[in-house]
Amino acid sequence: FVSIRNLRKSYGSFEALKGIDLDVAKGEVVCVIGPSGSGKSTLIRCINKLESFSAGSEIRVDGIPVASGRALARVRAEVGMVFQSFNLFPHLTVRENVMLAPRRVRGTTRADAARQADILLARVGIGNQADKYPDHLSGGQQQRVAIARALAMEPQVMLFDEPTSSLDPEMVGEVLDVMRDLARTGVTMIVVTHEMGFAAQVADRVIFMDAGQIVEQGPPAQILSHPTEPRLRNFLGAVL
Ligand code: ATP
Ligand code: MG
Repeated sequence: FVSIRNLRKSYGSFEALKGIDLDVAKGEVVCVIGPSGSGKSTLIRCINKLESFSAGSEIRVDGIPVASGRALARVRAEVGMVFQSFNLFPHLTVRENVMLAPRRVRGTTRADAARQADILLARVGIGNQADKYPDHLSGGQQQRVAIARALAMEPQVMLFDEPTSSLDPEMVGEVLDVMRDLARTGVTMIVVTHEMGFAAQVADRVIFMDAGQIVEQGPPAQILSHPTEPRLRNFLGAVL
């Protein structure tokens, strides 16, 4: 469903991605792990072209090439993204944050967008916070709003870049629970995370990146419990 061929990306003379090949099937949950600077964020930001990439690289989402113009707009409509920082609009209520994209991009009526927002907020466990402003929510609640906001566009793929890294430890679980529920409902997900417990339980496949390349990949039991690559063993030794 997501198909990446020979993805290369340079920042100036520094090559951050050195030829990534990756296929993610519909409904598959892929967790991406690896040391700081290995290119994890760059990889997932390339998927909806938040970063440009080198000529000769090919990315397709649902068969649509990630290029420019209308094709890119179609891809972006299919891809939801959740970042480490929540990036909510502080001057809008929680409900209005979730309504914004459907209203602007799809022209959904105010009433329909509000109804859908309330359903999504209930789904992520904060149905009772809809009229508050983001500042008045905990970090975990804000991140759940960000997830609801991404879901409002009914994406085919959800990309997560360390969605729990900026949260206080006691709030990590509530966000991971929401993501676990999403995975169960068959949403295709690519998740950059340091949460090895989540990867072990939820991922269909774990990808280990180092220095701009995929070094090892496989089912979580194999990658996390029986790593073969020395670089992966080192990494797991440091994080587990
Ligand atoms: P982390 O775990 O710290 O988030 P990461 O695996 O997500 O790391 P990336 O953010 O993808 O790593 O960065 C990969 C490499 O590209 C790093 O060496 C980084 O310094 C470099 N890099 C990232 N963004 C830029 C940029 N805008 N300009 C120059 N270099 C960059
Ligand atoms: Mg990163």
